[in-house]
Amino acid sequence: ASKRGGKARCTWFSQEFDANREQMREMDEELRSALANGDFALHYQPLIDCSSSKIVAVEALIRWPRPDGTFTAPDTFIPVAEESGLINPIGLLVLRRACLDAREWNGITLSVNLSAAQLRNPEFPIQLGHILEETGFAPERLELEITETCLVLDPVVAGRSLSVIRNFGVSIVLDDFGTGYASIGFLRQFRFEKLKIDRSLVSQAGQDDGSRAMMLSSITVARAMKMRVTAEGVETEEQAQMVRAAGCDQIQGWLYFKAMPAAEIPQYLDRPIDIAATDTTATMANK
Ligand code: C2E
Ligand code: MG
Ligand code: MG
Ligand code: MG
Repeated sequence: ASKRGGKARCTWFSQEFDANREQMREMDEELRSALANGDFALHYQPLIDCSSSKIVAVEALIRWPRPDGTFTAPDTFIPVAEESGLINPIGLLVLRRACLDAREWNGITLSVNLSAAQLRNPEFPIQLGHILEETGFAPERLELEITETCLVLDPVVAGRSLSVIRNFGVSIVLDDFGTGYASIGFLRQFRFEKLKIDRSLVSQAGQDDGSRAMMLSSITVARAMKMRVTAEGVETEEQAQMVRAAGCDQIQGWLYFKAMPAAEIPQYLDRPIDIAATDTTATMANK
């Protein structure tokens, strides 16, 4: 009986699996036409410098508008695009457009997320070089955000690409630190110009001593290795105070800004942001 039960379960699992595959195939088709039609949009979320209280950087975040007026979240479609390889052309589109948008935002850095598949693509550094040339965007103003997964999967190719990219003058940022493998030892294996502490660690650090100790010790290691540190996903005033006290250089989070269309960015540049504000919905310039 147990054998038959097992078999039935297997059938159920494989039906579920087929349904998922079918959904992924459909989404991949939709992504393909979105790419062809230029449907993707980019929003930008500011990063605030703790000492000057000004915007020092913006992170480009891809948006996929749907016919019903909503957006499909990147966490849903990026994995599908990674699996099919479509992330390569999508990633180049993001880079090109972000460099064009940010060209006018003098003095601030542009951060762009990279997928593991992009970093594993040996053509990527050359393509990046072309985009920098075409757009005239200063490489020193560009930073690329990667996650541990990018490097764990294929450390040799990834490491080689990273050193080519770094030679252009582009900075490398370790994103989502505190999730995944989250090993402090990892910080020593590759060279990063910046560490971004993930929202989950920021929020846990506000709640328990172990997580706070882990955040503090990663900041200590990052400091010793001359990395800058950004706290991600800061939503409350308490969190902002905690990460500033912990020595973070930059804060990114809904407490200050959500991601917004390019046209809305310039109004916030060159003036201090009230970093003691408690309003989570709006952004506030100094009077
Ligand atoms: P990420 O790179 O860690 O980006 C930060 C995510 O946290 C963004 O979600 C941002 O909107 C969100 N966030 C920022 N502050 C807060 C906050 O205070 N509270 C909360 N709850 N969330 C906050 P988003 O835009 O949905 O992007 C999710 C992930 O998708 C990104 O995580 C990144 O891994 C990926 N992604 C986004 N754009 C691109 C892209 O152009 N290329 C690639 N390869 N991946 C991208
Ligand atoms: Mg990121
Ligand atoms: Mg992140
Ligand atoms: Mg993430």
